[in-house]
Amino acid sequence: MASIEENVALVKSEICAYESRYERTAGSVLLLAASKQQSVEKIQQAVHAGQINFGENYLQEALPKIAACREQNIIWHFIGLIQRNKTKKIAEHFAWVHSVASPQIAERLNHYRPEHLSPLNICLQVNISAEAHKTGVPPAEVMALAKFCQSLPRLTLRGLMAIPPLKYSFAEQRAELNKLRLIYDKLKAESAQIDTLSMGMSADMEAAIAEGSTLVRIGTAIFGART
Ligand SMILES: *Cc1c(COP(=O)(O)O)cnc(C)c1O
Repeated sequence: MASIEENVALVKSEICAYESRYERTAGSVLLLAASKQQSVEKIQQAVHAGQINFGENYLQEALPKIAACREQNIIWHFIGLIQRNKTKKIAEHFAWVHSVASPQIAERLNHYRPEHLSPLNICLQVNISAEAHKTGVPPAEVMALAKFCQSLPRLTLRGLMAIPPLKYSFAEQRAELNKLRLIYDKLKAESAQIDTLSMGMSADMEAAIAEGSTLVRIGTAIFGART
């Protein structure tokens, strides 16, 4: 089995190859290591391979890992479902939140973001497939929520995120991801500071880069299957 160091290098080389294949600017796709259910030791192995950005889904699991990696200069991203009562700690311990989907949650993150830290970078999670059980703001409400978030001084709206339903064919993956891309283009046209299209996981990374992703969230391809 390949080591985590080797996997990080491999995923990075794939990102480079896809940037060139789909005529994306070299270095325009950031790699986020999705480290939920992975140990501090494994996170540190990825750090040794040069990995800087890590994403966590569960606050309780993330806090001890963040504390254990204090010396490592990691940039932590919250990518999971946000519960109201977790907003204070999320605002205190993360640099980014990808999963903002309501004005109430945005308001609380803004309220709790400590003054000594720079504004919290956020993405709006969009429910592109309009599945009732999926979280995310409906596409029709993205522009209004974006405007609201931009009025909050302790947040910096950076872009959009989605977790599309798993599709097996490359063409279907692209069609799904293209829905988010179109909303992103519209938002970006209205606002200069929008620069992040957070889409693509281990199974659809190539399709995501083809569709303009600027940040891929990769777990399995770096750490192996979650046990
Ligand atoms: C787990 C997770 C990922 C990574 O998924 P893999 O398929 O393991 O690459 C990406 N984004 C989110 C929001 C996740 O929860």
